[in-house]
Amino acid sequence: MGWSPRSVVRGVVSPNGVRYNQPMPKPNPRHPNFPIPSGPVLRAKGWRQEALLRLLENVLSVGEDPDKLIVYAALGKAARNWAAHEQIVKALTTMDEDQTLVIQSGKPIGLFRTHARAPLVIMANCNIVGQWAKAEVFYELEKKGLIAWGGLTAGAWQYIGSQGVIQGTYEIFMRIAEKRFGGSLAGRFILTAGMGGMGGAQPLAGRMAGAAILDVDVDPARAARRKEIGYLEHIAPDLDAALAMIEAAVREKRATSVGLVANAADVYPEILRRGIIPDIVTDQTSAHDLVYGYVPAGMSLDEVKRLRVDGQGQLMAASRASIATHVRAMLGFLERGAEVFDNGNLIRTQAKQAGVDNAFDIPIFTEAYLRPLFARAIGPFRWMALSGEPEDISRIDDLVLEMFPDNRIVTNWISLARQHIPFEGLPARIAWLGHGERTALALRVNDLVRAGTLKGPIAFSRDHLDAGAMAHPNIMTENMKDGSDAIADWPLLDAMLLTASMADLVVIHSGGGGYAGYMTSAGVTLVADGTAAADERLSLALTNDTGLGVMRYADAGYEESKDEAEKKGLLWFDLGGK
Ligand code: NAD
Repeated sequence: MGWSPRSVVRGVVSPNGVRYNQPMPKPNPRHPNFPIPSGPVLRAKGWRQEALLRLLENVLSVGEDPDKLIVYAALGKAARNWAAHEQIVKALTTMDEDQTLVIQSGKPIGLFRTHARAPLVIMANCNIVGQWAKAEVFYELEKKGLIAWGGLTAGAWQYIGSQGVIQGTYEIFMRIAEKRFGGSLAGRFILTAGMGGMGGAQPLAGRMAGAAILDVDVDPARAARRKEIGYLEHIAPDLDAALAMIEAAVREKRATSVGLVANAADVYPEILRRGIIPDIVTDQTSAHDLVYGYVPAGMSLDEVKRLRVDGQGQLMAASRASIATHVRAMLGFLERGAEVFDNGNLIRTQAKQAGVDNAFDIPIFTEAYLRPLFARAIGPFRWMALSGEPEDISRIDDLVLEMFPDNRIVTNWISLARQHIPFEGLPARIAWLGHGERTALALRVNDLVRAGTLKGPIAFSRDHLDAGAMAHPNIMTENMKDGSDAIADWPLLDAMLLTASMADLVVIHSGGGGYAGYMTSAGVTLVADGTAAADERLSLALTNDTGLGVMRYADAGYEESKDEAEKKGLLWFDLGGK
């Protein structure tokens, strides 16, 4: 059946009232019960609704534990529970374009009559009032079924698998290469840990950057998974073998990735004790969550699973003690000259609470490497082919290369991504683009959808870790120039502005689990369905989103942001930060 931007081919209603239609979505060997959406047939009344439904299906198809609705980061969920999920699916398949679905912490509350240009879905996930926003309170509320944490992209149905974070990780490595190693990581050793949903991007990012990377994960299934999907090359049988493989690759200046199944809190101190100092050290275990994320040294996975149910206090204490050892080793590497950084998992914060007073000697990746990009609102922008067809992404890759030939970061990235990154779930791409660039690309893509050049509509979103979208004083906004680290007005304003700009989905998230009380962020999804209305939505929402990002940093006193505001003609009121 041919696809045209105007065709709305509805599917059939299954006995439980949910539209699951033919042709069947693509099989998903990893999670057979969670097929990857694809094809031209709609189950909803229009492509906008269908797009959001497909994105919900997609986050589960590429998620870490979809049977529990868990997508990534230990507890980041796509919906509160299965009843909530079923009602969301029903609402998306039956709602009209002039209705808005309201979701509170992963639970659909109701449908409201709005208008055809209003968002189809608005969400507020895991926002707890200040004095109550603590991990223990979150766990209690979660146990009672009153709240769910959406991570950044899980609850907002924006997660695209490990590829979602890979360019960010790659750019960090390349910034370090430029800063310390003459622009190349050939012959350099990166030590890291964590091969979960996001951490699993590290071995591939390290190899793409030319380094020899050792990634330690305590769970053999996670290591096996990354090898199976092509993100990890080798799994070493033990530490000696792993170090020998790394040493050989370093000697030959050969890029490689080696996984090791072990606890990082054992391995890091042991490597330090042997006097082996990697060039770069970081960590991406789920250290932010002392109960459902981090696995303390000396405990089996089974023991940890049991304590998650009936020994949370004991588990939190053990995780904290283990993180202290883990971070002390990282500080040891720092003292011995390694480039050490926190990769956004709150490990320094946990260590400090466990008595490691100098944990914050380790810098955060945002401030250390990426702030000049964020100050110009350049950040992780992503697009997903709702047709399920990889050719659509390939066509957009060509378009990006054609449109931004002078943007070295993006052209280099697209060429590398084409070569190295396997698709998971819906074919997708991520690229760091800034103000004006995102809008221009999205409008050209909408043209291609309108012309029928692409096999289906394209959805756009961006990471919550974006210039105007996140307040996270220990990660995104640490050491802001004007001290505005903890001010959460920015993401709230961003979400309101995106709603006023007619985005298709707008969400406000705050931290859950160990992130409770540490952050607030805003997310947005837009659907390029080839219509004129989509032109308007894409243009307003993407332009205003990055425009606010530039202003947030300009307001904080960043010179490059003031320059960007002036160059791009933003109507920013410069009151000198007062
Ligand atoms: P995940 O829960 O899917 O995976 C965490 C992995 O850590 C698991 O595979 C687990 O087995 C492993 N692990 C736990 N304790 C360990 C230990 N002591 N030693 C070795 N391995 C251990 O989480 P994820 O989605 O991969 O995210 C990891 C962390 O990164 C989270 O804290 C998340 O919030 C953060 N994060 C940061 C960014 C960023 O932009 N820098 C982006 C996304 C996520």
